[in-house]
Amino acid sequence: MSDASTPNSSVSRRRFWQVGACALGASLGGWGVWEAAKRSSQTTASPVIPAKATDYTPTEVMDLLTRGNERFTQGNMRAPNRNLERLKEVATQQAPFAAFLGCADSRVPIEIVFDQGFGDLFVTRIAGNVANPEIIGSLEFGTAILGAKVLFVLGHTSCGAVGAAMRGEEVPGQISTLFQHLRPAVRPARGDVAQAIRENVRHQANLVAESSPVIARLVREGRLRVAGGVYDLQSGRVEPVDL
Ligand SMILES: [Zn+2]
Repeated sequence: MSDASTPNSSVSRRRFWQVGACALGASLGGWGVWEAAKRSSQTTASPVIPAKATDYTPTEVMDLLTRGNERFTQGNMRAPNRNLERLKEVATQQAPFAAFLGCADSRVPIEIVFDQGFGDLFVTRIAGNVANPEIIGSLEFGTAILGAKVLFVLGHTSCGAVGAAMRGEEVPGQISTLFQHLRPAVRPARGDVAQAIRENVRHQANLVAESSPVIARLVREGRLRVAGGVYDLQSGRVEPVDL
């Protein structure tokens, strides 16, 4: 039964795709337009910028991140280093110029927010961007071993983890294990979620900088800068937070 039906269904699938493709071509104004669109997408391919941590100072990395976020919010993304050429370049070694601690929220994809690509950023993400021991260990790896020049803690507006910790409500499973890391930031904010989000960035950044002797030494020697900011879900802009 299946032997007999397979060729027929395969033919009908082919026919479906042929018809579908013709219909799509026609809806775009014919194959000429289709081919022109293909050529256009090739000429605007992601540029490869051989960015390495050793090429930059912490101040220059802050400038790269600021300009990347500006391109993103203005709709001028270059989407650098997002192609197979860059993938191959960094396949055997990496030297990301910035390390991040961000929230796991699906609306805060850090490479996109800062308009960067493969091998540029060493990103750790966890709900509420909290600095637990495993996260601190990962950030030590990104900075002391891989050489990132900036360690950036990125919170975001309407953070569900910060809001839940503030309300102290009952949550399923092990979600509440995050609350212990968030309480020192949410308590002083007295119900102001926006302030708690900024305070949480400040608290987690200072925690990383002070509790890790490895990171503290890099900062002392001027080889690393710790910075913080809050990503606005509405505008895409990252507002700096004074630590
Ligand atoms: Zn969040």
